[in-house]
Amino acid sequence: MGTMEGLEVTECTRCPALVDCRSRIVNGAGPEDADVLFVGEGPGAREDERGEPFVGRSGSVLDEGLRDHGLSRADVRITNCVRCRPPENRDPTKEELDNCREYLEREIALVDPDVVVTLGKVPSEHLLGRDVAVTREAGTMANAELGGEVRDVLVCVHPAATLYDRSQESTFRNAIDKAATLAGSSGGQSSLGEF
Ligand code: URA
Repeated sequence: MGTMEGLEVTECTRCPALVDCRSRIVNGAGPEDADVLFVGEGPGAREDERGEPFVGRSGSVLDEGLRDHGLSRADVRITNCVRCRPPENRDPTKEELDNCREYLEREIALVDPDVVVTLGKVPSEHLLGRDVAVTREAGTMANAELGGEVRDVLVCVHPAATLYDRSQESTFRNAIDKAATLAGSSGGQSSLGEF
C-alpha cells in the first residue's frame, strides 16, 4: 500500500481520493540533517505540478520570512502532513492524515531536527494532538512525541494567512524569528556556519 525509501515515499495508494487527484507524490525538500523542519498541511496545485512543498504563493511568503531572518530554503527542511494534493484544496481528512502519519514520523526520526515548526492549524493540531488556536499560540513552544522522541514544536500561522489578513504578518514573522534563533543557536547542521 505504500513504499518509503529513505525520506521519500516512492509509491502509495492508501488514500483513494488523493490518488485520483494527485499528479505525483510531493515529498519533503531540504537538507536531510536540517535543524529546523517546517510542516505544512498538504500540497496545493503548484506543489502537485512541481513535486516540491511550498512553491506557490505560500512558498514565496515563507521564503521571504526566512530570508528576512538570515535563512534560505536551502537551510531548512520543508514537508507536509499529507504528500498528495487533496481535491479542490480541501483540508485532508482525519483518515488521510492518519494514512500519511507513518511517513511523516519516519521523516522526523531521520532528519532529527532541533525544532519542528507547524505551519497553520492542520499541522499544529495533527502533531500536538489537541485543538490549537493558532493565532493565539503562534510563537509558543510545545512538546510532542514525534519520530520516537519527545520534541520541541513551535506553533506558527500558515504563511497564506498573511495574504488574507495583514494583521497576521507580524505573528508569522515573530514565529519565523524564533525558528531562526533556534536554528542558529544549536550549531548542529552540517551546512550551517562551518566555513
Ligand atoms: N500549503 C501547504 O500547507 N503546503 C504546501 O506545500 C503548500 C501550501
